[in-house]
Amino acid sequence: MPLVSMRQLLDEAAKGGYGVGAFNVNDMEQIQAIMMAAKQTKSPVIVQASRGARAFAEDLYLFRLIQAAAELNPELPIAMHQDHGNSFETCRSAIALGYTSVMMDGSLLEDGKTPSTFEQNVDVTRRVVDFAHERGVTVEGEIGVLGGIEDGHGAGGTGLEHVTDPDQAVEFAERTGVDALAIAIGTSHGAYKFSKKPDGSVLKMDILIEIHKRLPHTHLVMHGSSSVPKDLQDIINQYGGKLKPTWGVPVEEIQLGIRNGVRKVNVDTDNRLAMTGAIRKVLWETPEKFDPRDYLKPAREAMAKVVALRMTQFGQAGHAGDYAPIPITEMAKGYANGSLDTRPSLAAK
Ligand SMILES: [Zn+2]
Repeated sequence: MPLVSMRQLLDEAAKGGYGVGAFNVNDMEQIQAIMMAAKQTKSPVIVQASRGARAFAEDLYLFRLIQAAAELNPELPIAMHQDHGNSFETCRSAIALGYTSVMMDGSLLEDGKTPSTFEQNVDVTRRVVDFAHERGVTVEGEIGVLGGIEDGHGAGGTGLEHVTDPDQAVEFAERTGVDALAIAIGTSHGAYKFSKKPDGSVLKMDILIEIHKRLPHTHLVMHGSSSVPKDLQDIINQYGGKLKPTWGVPVEEIQLGIRNGVRKVNVDTDNRLAMTGAIRKVLWETPEKFDPRDYLKPAREAMAKVVALRMTQFGQAGHAGDYAPIPITEMAKGYANGSLDTRPSLAAK
């Protein structure tokens, strides 16, 4: 199966009332882990690469690996997404490679650190939407600024400094026509999200619910949504690691989001923890080993286990065969004739 449009995956998820995990990849083992989990749970797949991942793996290696995943798993719909594009050029180059979805994170300036103005965000996102939709490619935007830093990207802070304003979210959706919208509700990138189990004072689910009511046709995206489970932290620390205690986004909060318009859930940290724990365990218990396969295989299996669990918890499991993929060229026609338009003033008609 060719790579499919992320918009189609998310439209189907909205129809079915489930969420789809978007898992970050940097190398072959991570891609294989996601595909193992998707095959086992019969799940549609969103694979995403940050700018850091594209630089680490080199574009062509990474993209060819995704193509291999699609060729080896023709029964699974797979979307390939650029995570946190920082500029028009980053998004354009991802589309040129064959990515079927891009995130233009115009909440920050091109340096990936400094919060932008609302008008700057609208301008750059609108340009990316025009370019991408002409080619049938999905666009995710961001309004409000997430906390934390990951892969050198992020404004830092706790995630509560720039919580999304629902009025701005509606205006942003109207003026850009994005397919999906990342909102800031107190979550952060990286392992250190919350200093205790989050409640309503730090995780603003009420804002998410309000935005969904006002933007029912725009798919919402939760970033920084690893759950950072204690058992994965414990394995790392048990075998010589030094992680400070931390709390992520509880799965039940993500499920509440999914009941209120969240269709894409970004998960990276949990997979990093799972792989690192598995590698540490092998090296700690059998220090005589030196074949990378001796630790990469358990690392891959540990990640596949976490991904399969999330796919089940988000509800995407069992939905891989629900629909036939719409070619990207057909998606382009849908954008051109307005049938895929999500702008609140048009989609409501
Ligand atoms: Zn993110």
